[in-house]
Amino acid sequence: MGKKLMFSAGMDSYILKHVYKIPDRDCVFVHMGTKENEIELQKINKYFPRTQIIYMPVLNDFALPNYIIPFRNSFLVLITAQFGNDIYCAFTAGDTTRDKDFVFKAQMEGLLNYFAGIPEKVNISGPYTVTMPFKQLTKTEIVALYLKRKGTVEHLLTHSVSCYEAIDCGKCRSCLRKFIALKMNGYDTKNHFQNNPYLHLLEFLNESRKKGRGKEVQEIEKCLDCRA
Ligand SMILES: [Zn+2]
Repeated sequence: MGKKLMFSAGMDSYILKHVYKIPDRDCVFVHMGTKENEIELQKINKYFPRTQIIYMPVLNDFALPNYIIPFRNSFLVLITAQFGNDIYCAFTAGDTTRDKDFVFKAQMEGLLNYFAGIPEKVNISGPYTVTMPFKQLTKTEIVALYLKRKGTVEHLLTHSVSCYEAIDCGKCRSCLRKFIALKMNGYDTKNHFQNNPYLHLLEFLNESRKKGRGKEVQEIEKCLDCRA
């Protein structure tokens, strides 16, 4: 019963955990068989050992060539709902996949509460809610919130992981977004990454322009200006 965080040890859910002071025991990590999961699991074992760890039947088998796992967060919400009725998800304004938006929230709540109508057929009694406190905030804004609540950059870099490739490659979209969010808050963390993120910002800028990510484009431009 009660609040549970869908936790991955990624930057966003790491910050949500910190800001909302959610203890390890109220965190649910779902291992789906992806490469990132192994790295995330190392962080969890080391820093958040009381997190509840659930092994999924290898969802990665369904991954598309672009690494998207169709319906991924629907699976994760349904699993987290086996343990709590108020499911916190660290989706942010920049997230554009459909399984991270307000329509998704409403659909999942509809589905869960439909099941909750027959109490003897669910583990946790309803009503269920999917709570997305960061949905209107950018990564830069959640980092600002984290720092305001006495979170440290050192911990953010060591306790959370947000890299597609290996550990903090400094080249992938996820690393670059983390780097930019910290830079926008006045912290230059280029030395933390395996590769200098500045060298990959231009390519990222072109991609973001092409995809019409307005706010992100502005932030990348600012980062590039700061460097000069
Ligand atoms: Zn990376």
